[in-house]
Amino acid sequence: MSGITREAPVLIAGAGPVGMTAALALNARGVDATILEADPEGRDRSGSRAIYVHGSTLRTLERIHPGLGTDLVDEGLVWPTRRTLYRGTEVFNRTYDSPGGSGDIPHFTSVPQVVTERYMLDALDEAGIDVHWEAEVETVDSSPDGVRVETADGREWDCEYLIGADGGGSTVRNEIGVNFEGDQSANHFIIADVDEVEDDPLPLERVFHYDAPEADGRNVLLVPFTGGWRLDIQCYEDDDPEELSGDERMRTFVRDVMGERYEDNVSWVSSYRFLQVNADSFVDDHRRVLLAGEAAHLLAPFGARGMNSGVADADEAASAVAVAIDARTEAVARDEVELFAARREKAAEYNIGAAGQALEYLQGDDPVTVLRKEIAAEMADYFEAAGEWLDDAPYGPHGTPPIVSTGSY
Ligand SMILES: Cc1cc2nc3c(=O)[nH]c(=O)nc-3n(C[C@H](O)[C@H](O)[C@H](O)COP(=O)(O)OP(=O)(O)OC[C@H]3O[C@@H](n4cnc5c(N)ncnc54)[C@H](O)[C@@H]3O)c2cc1C
Repeated sequence: MSGITREAPVLIAGAGPVGMTAALALNARGVDATILEADPEGRDRSGSRAIYVHGSTLRTLERIHPGLGTDLVDEGLVWPTRRTLYRGTEVFNRTYDSPGGSGDIPHFTSVPQVVTERYMLDALDEAGIDVHWEAEVETVDSSPDGVRVETADGREWDCEYLIGADGGGSTVRNEIGVNFEGDQSANHFIIADVDEVEDDPLPLERVFHYDAPEADGRNVLLVPFTGGWRLDIQCYEDDDPEELSGDERMRTFVRDVMGERYEDNVSWVSSYRFLQVNADSFVDDHRRVLLAGEAAHLLAPFGARGMNSGVADADEAASAVAVAIDARTEAVARDEVELFAARREKAAEYNIGAAGQALEYLQGDDPVTVLRKEIAAEMADYFEAAGEWLDDAPYGPHGTPPIVSTGSY
């Protein structure tokens, strides 16, 4: 194939949740964008990955494509109960009358990422946004005037701005010479999706088990989502994750933690050591390429900041690009892109720190943390706050990143 394609002023690499959000957010601002996606159309994205969608993410999606946020709310579920057990004994149990709060958009919803992505794809279709499937970005060449992209099929594409939303192994990030910095969790985690049963389903509770006797003393998290459950088992450092995530072992885990009726319902299982890394820059030297989502940062899922912060990156990248495209001076355009980078780099640092606190708490075997947990478990019968602390700590702090400006204030 020959000739250079110029379909839209903005190209987006990747049709994951972040790339799709960026396209919708640009469209809402009156800017045309085209997505280049490496995978074929109709690909299998098995594994639910993100299930916990924050209210702020739902509000962003509703703002950029009316109906998208509320559709996800209709598809998702809001579990009313938080419960925690310590070595098999319940230390916290709270049920909310109105767990989502009031209004159309609840505080959160629990919906598999495959479903979220399906709704996003429909939204792209409604908005008339093109996705080129099997168009893997291979090279990126940016200049002060724009960006040239080459895809694996030999096609060349020109655009004014490129948003790299091509995930953790981002080619765009590598091509602009940006590196990841950070570290990796010491333990593996086994994560499985278990389909719901029709007869006698478990109550809709998010349950955390410290040192669960049912899992030979490992920590176990159980979270419901529409149509199933997320089971998350924290391995010991010397565990073999391959062996623990094998079919027979998973059946045993599921039977012991959830009950016999669930043991044949494991639909997906995987094991992870979570990276906690941030790109050393979210933009290229010419301020024409912006990184968003996992192309820019990877973090452990405790606190559910991965996709949620990627959606915020995408919205802010779209906002910066929309202004930069109309800017009358090159300096103003650069400023907008730099402001995006400053804000989102700061946010990513904050989010990685928050997920890191949760990881540290879960994996940490320092005597002070261990003693604090033990004392809190002993006191939980007498002081609800002690049980609530045990219930809360595995998810890290609740805070949100600071909004910063590139100026001094
Ligand atoms: C077990 C688990 C649980 C999680 N739970 C949560 C949660 O509850 N809440 C939450 O917010 N987050 C959660 N996350 C994180 C969330 O899944 C990710 O943050 C999210 O998928 C990142 O989206 P993305 O669009 O940046 O990247 P991806 O989803 O990886 O999408 C990248 C896209 O780019 C495409 N691509 C790759 N290379 C190229 C290329 N060269 N050219 C073109 N296209 C390319 C890929 O095919 C893919 O479609 C979880 C993750 C895991 C693993």
